[in-house]
Amino acid sequence: MLKDNLKQVEENIEKACERAGRKREEVTLIAVSKTKPVPMLEEIYEEGIRTFGENKVQELVEKYDEMPKDIKWHMIGHLQRNKVKYIVDKVALIHSVDSYRLAEEINVQAKKHGVVVPILIEVNVAEEDSKFGVKLNEAMQLAEEISLLENVRIEGLMTIAPFVENAEDNRMYFRQLKQLSVDIDAKNIDNVHMKILSMGMTGDYTVAIEEGATMVRVGTGIFGARNYNNI
Ligand SMILES: *Cc1c(COP(=O)(O)O)cnc(C)c1O
Repeated sequence: MLKDNLKQVEENIEKACERAGRKREEVTLIAVSKTKPVPMLEEIYEEGIRTFGENKVQELVEKYDEMPKDIKWHMIGHLQRNKVKYIVDKVALIHSVDSYRLAEEINVQAKKHGVVVPILIEVNVAEEDSKFGVKLNEAMQLAEEISLLENVRIEGLMTIAPFVENAEDNRMYFRQLKQLSVDIDAKNIDNVHMKILSMGMTGDYTVAIEEGATMVRVGTGIFGARNYNNI
């Protein structure tokens, strides 16, 4: 039952917050529902979850249309510039901005819709070839450039840590991202506020919370394993 999974995740989050001396309210759980059918999302919605993460534009838009309107949809996957227009007025947060050109397109579309879009800069802390995101030492400059765009607002940083057996192996990456957010904040760039640290997935969210995550993105831990053959 998804309800039991959710309860377990919630318990783990609470314990991690306790260990870190943090308040539960400081951490937002994002239910990552990619590849999962709407009835499963509804089950979780019934349990009070209002924040969902998707990584494909079309899937996000379809679920947006079918699900209640009080849901906050988070775009967590790689975003192509030509698809920005489909989601710009539907998302509460875009986690995956890793180039000025993408931010620029979000700005153009946001202007058309008369909205300001909150975004995170995606950082490939571990510098894995298979992952998107800027390098740690490129993030500051990108933040400075994007800060000049009127209809985009940088609210923090996001990383996807390596897939590891032992979550402890990712602790240093979470720590590095936290430090980067402190460094960027210290620069006092206009229009840039490092409020959000989106880090931690099913395998490592408790470690991420200990290191300062304010958003954890949990898919498998709530919905079970994904089957990519069915889609
Ligand atoms: C799929 C995905 C997640 C969730 O992964 P799980 O290991 O299933 O919790 C989190 N973040 C991003 C960016 C993802 O694409």
